[in-house]
Amino acid sequence: MARAAHTELIDRFGRRHDYLRISLTERCNLRCTYCMPGEGIVLRPRSHFMRTHEVQALAATFVELGVRKIRLTGGEPLVRRDAAEVIRGLGRLPVELAITTNGVLLDRFLDTFEEAGLRAVNISLDSLRADRMAAISRRNHFQRTMDNIGLARRRGFQVKVNMVVMRGVNDDEVTDFIEWTREEPLHVRFIEFMPFNGNRWEWGRGVSAGEILARATEHFGAEGFRRADDRPHDTARHYRLAGGAGTFAVISSVTEPFCGTCNRIRLTADGKLKNCLFGRHETDLLTPLRAGEDIRPLITGAVLRKEAMRGGMDTPGKLADGTLHAANRSMVAIGG
Ligand code: SAM
Ligand code: SF4
Repeated sequence: MARAAHTELIDRFGRRHDYLRISLTERCNLRCTYCMPGEGIVLRPRSHFMRTHEVQALAATFVELGVRKIRLTGGEPLVRRDAAEVIRGLGRLPVELAITTNGVLLDRFLDTFEEAGLRAVNISLDSLRADRMAAISRRNHFQRTMDNIGLARRRGFQVKVNMVVMRGVNDDEVTDFIEWTREEPLHVRFIEFMPFNGNRWEWGRGVSAGEILARATEHFGAEGFRRADDRPHDTARHYRLAGGAGTFAVISSVTEPFCGTCNRIRLTADGKLKNCLFGRHETDLLTPLRAGEDIRPLITGAVLRKEAMRGGMDTPGKLADGTLHAANRSMVAIGG
């Protein structure tokens, strides 16, 4: 008798994986320092990457195995030439569709999002100051991103703004970002700086979720904001200013990982399944797909090999071990 499909993606620790993040490209129109090595990453021929129909076929297989939510990411997903076609195709699957983007090209895609039923847009913005954004992203697109955040919000999309908090770079803007949520129904998320290949990670350059909240308390007072609701599997702890229209949240992958309730798996632009953002293990799905093989056992096998915490980086010592970061990809080539 056939087993119910949704039981397939349960790992050794009983975690059910129903959330797939698909990277549409390794390319990007920004060069964020925390994400990309300064020298960029080696670009490979187009044939190494999933074509439109292959993204669709792989996604459909994951849905058959129980995936209920798909987030598109990258690199910058919207620089992919056929991004609109991919989004429309995925919109036909029975999933909640979402995207993470730097927002630079967003205005060109909002109609497509509506057509595809994609309502949730996460936009990365690390500073409210044009000069700082230029230094962090090594490009000058601040105003376009800001304009597009406003546009997406006015058109009724659910907009979350992701800020990677870095000491001495943008950490003095934490309270400005929180203040932004007072009048605007925006959801700001502060992300702890995470280690990946080539991003010269040292925890001293990051700011913990605890410190971010302490700064919020110092600035707004303990009564100035309160805890808001989280959803199951949320990686973020949410808060709201008293009378605030939006929310803010902290994502503490470094200081307080949320691996115990993880429901995420990742498909890279070159068709490799990663069972954890931090892990170095990858399962090639694209080659067997092209060879006409059944990829379902490969997917279930990869989920069963998932480690309990951060791809095995389960202590602060291992997290700080540069050889382990080097064994993983750069964030831009994973899809955050
Ligand atoms: N280009 C899109 C964007 O920037 O939103 C999607 C891809 S980007 C890799 C996805 C998310 O990962 C972004 O919010 C980015 O800020 C975050 N990110 C990248 N490198 C990171 C790091 N070292 N630590 C924490 N977050 C990181
Ligand atoms: Fe590009 Fe996003 Fe990485 Fe910045 S964080 S370099 S926008 S992929």
